[in-house]
Amino acid sequence: MDETSKLASIASKYHADIDTEVGRAVVRLAGAGIAVQCRKGCSWCCRLPVRATVPEGVLVAGYLLEKLHGGDMAALKGRISSWLTVIRRDEETRDAWGFRRKGLEMATFPPVPPCPFLTDDLCLVYPVRPMGCRVHCTASSPKRCRAVVCPETIAEPELVPEVLQAVKPVCMSYRKSLEEAGLPFDKVLDHLAALVLDRLEITARSEGMR
Ligand code: SF4
Ligand code: SF4
Repeated sequence: MDETSKLASIASKYHADIDTEVGRAVVRLAGAGIAVQCRKGCSWCCRLPVRATVPEGVLVAGYLLEKLHGGDMAALKGRISSWLTVIRRDEETRDAWGFRRKGLEMATFPPVPPCPFLTDDLCLVYPVRPMGCRVHCTASSPKRCRAVVCPETIAEPELVPEVLQAVKPVCMSYRKSLEEAGLPFDKVLDHLAALVLDRLEITARSEGMR
């Protein structure tokens, strides 16, 4: 197995394990009368910056290389570059929740650009989306999630602690497998968009050299 396939396979296993635990937690919550509100097409949360690990970036890039070609790929790369330029301009104030908590003037709240993988309120890379997107769910009203683009709206959403708790052991074991593969967790974490763009550019360069 080559390096790219090995990294993609580490990420795929991680996601499968995460999905299992999230699914079990959602069933347990339903049994306790708590309904997770997340639905297809609901995408306020896709305005929050998503960090991921190198293997997850490799997995997403591989998926896109199979799905997108020519102008579509060029357009996506353009969206990713623009998003990174905006989001890196001031990372701290673009943390919408942090911004609210600091009580800063809402009038100066910077607009949060949607994730570059979001098209028509659907995730272009849904089957291979990173861990952060898989565990982000709420039992509070989706209206609260709107606060990310409209900070004066009511309260922040309540993420489901049972889900975050349930995936903890999987995350710990993933970190361990990364360490064993020579990829210390803190060194392989970045914006998903940056990781994917890097990988797409590496692939384009290596294909250009053939
Ligand atoms: S977290 Fe909020 S915005 Fe995201 S899918 Fe769930 S309800 Fe919708
Ligand atoms: S990767 Fe997909 S699910 Fe995650 S924030 Fe972007 S569009 Fe939303």
